[in-house]
Amino acid sequence: MEGTLTDPGMEAAHEILKRRFGYSNFRLNQGDIINALLAGRDVLTLMPTGGGKSLCYQIPALLRNGAGVVVSPLIALMQDQVNTLQQLGIRAAFLNSTQDTNTRQEIETALRRGELDLLYLAPERLLTESTLRLLDDVPLTLFAIDEAHCVSQWGHDFRPEYQQLSMLHKRYPNVPRIALTATADARTRQEIIEQLDLHESAVFINSFDRPNIRYSQNEGQNAREQLWHFLENEHPADAGIVYCLSRKKVEAIAEWLQGKGRIALPYHAGLPNEVRSEHQARFLREDGVIIVATIAFGMGIDKPDVRFVAHLNLPKSIEAYYQETGRAGRDGAAANAWLAYGLQDVITLRQMTHASDANEKYKQITHHKLEAMLGLCELTTCRRQALLAYFDEQYDEPCGNCDNCLQPPQTWDATVTAQKALSCVYRTGQRFGVNYIIEILTGKKNDERILRLGHDKISTYGIGHDLSATDWRGVFRQLIARGYLSVDIEGYGALHLTEACRPLLRGEVELALRKLRKTEIRQ
Ligand code: ADP
Ligand code: ZN
Repeated sequence: MEGTLTDPGMEAAHEILKRRFGYSNFRLNQGDIINALLAGRDVLTLMPTGGGKSLCYQIPALLRNGAGVVVSPLIALMQDQVNTLQQLGIRAAFLNSTQDTNTRQEIETALRRGELDLLYLAPERLLTESTLRLLDDVPLTLFAIDEAHCVSQWGHDFRPEYQQLSMLHKRYPNVPRIALTATADARTRQEIIEQLDLHESAVFINSFDRPNIRYSQNEGQNAREQLWHFLENEHPADAGIVYCLSRKKVEAIAEWLQGKGRIALPYHAGLPNEVRSEHQARFLREDGVIIVATIAFGMGIDKPDVRFVAHLNLPKSIEAYYQETGRAGRDGAAANAWLAYGLQDVITLRQMTHASDANEKYKQITHHKLEAMLGLCELTTCRRQALLAYFDEQYDEPCGNCDNCLQPPQTWDATVTAQKALSCVYRTGQRFGVNYIIEILTGKKNDERILRLGHDKISTYGIGHDLSATDWRGVFRQLIARGYLSVDIEGYGALHLTEACRPLLRGEVELALRKLRKTEIRQ
């Protein structure tokens, strides 16, 4: 199986690597993958973003007579991908819905004449009968199924068309297939194998470890100020990506960063195409540009020197977090994956889980994924170890390069404080949200609602005056994140005690919570 330079196929592969792509060595697994495809085997490849997946199918497609078909969901990027290949003198083209009939016909003719080595297609185009008939008539070297996790319902980017790709195997049993993805836990991996019928394939899994990325996750209320602090200290002139959840926030943050003198460009699905491509192009070509984006930005972006990826919201899953942060430091130099989250993020996430109208199974999956993400945030031990463990990779030592390793979180005995918080929720009938509960705990004076409801008379009024409202928010965030309190799904955010509270209220267990770090801005 091992591809050595003495076998003629691999020798030719190496030549192409050098001549066409200008690289002297294969990266981890690239050579073996190419060798397997040349031998006619199916392949499943898991490589982190930046690992070099594209060459794995491009080179065998160039070495064999006929065209390699690349299935990709990223229509917006096909043009760029094809341009890049054409600049290297590679005969590549794409077929998708953005083209007019003439252009499509020209490409089809070129394909029939054997003038193409690589053809990029969106899955829905590939699956049309007319495309399939076209492919029936030409020699095919391979099918590359990019972003293969889209086939999995368990994955974070499910696309139903992907499941139909299993027909390729039946219709073209002799054409080797390679499924590629950057993100897959064991379960997603299994689903890719099942759905695409890759049971016989050679599997190559590169480590998901990205040692040059420093992961840090900061709790606290004022994410914006924290972000600025981080940028000023660590990336005063670097290129990076800031992710936000909503379009509105994207616009606001971009504007705010511009006001602070940075080149910051918004990117989200609501902007006109021209604006988006222009911003993307500037990000790729100019130095020091910050893209402020919703998750609509980033898939397939090949910019090696992104020095930081910042999240101003909690990603929906560890997969999404890993994929988004993976866009930092693809050149191997030091990079930061920075995240800020606060009480409101935790509450929103908890509410979102229940509120969607998806089916039960999907809800459950989403719920588990959110929980895992939150767990990573609230972790007090090495983040990298936990992240890799999530992808079923064991990492024996703490990494020494994440926030928790570099600045181990301090904890404090919060047993009594938690008891006060929980009793206050209980005494007020489990009908109120965090802010009001904190007002009672801190003994807010002359508050109309407190007086009207007589909450200045209850035993928990003012018993928490030793902590500031900010400190209390940190306490509640952790109580919610750890499952002592649940948040009402109706949208008012009323807090409820859970079963987990009992031993804590009875004083049978102690509770340690983490302290805010000094660098985190308190507000
Ligand atoms: P992925 O699709 O896995 O995210 P790409 O295929 O886009 O990664 O490759 C990431 C970067 O690494 C690209 O700039 C690519 O040209 C470069 N690259 C790929 N293989 C090699 C190699 N063997 N040597 C040096 N650079 C490589
Ligand atoms: Zn660590």
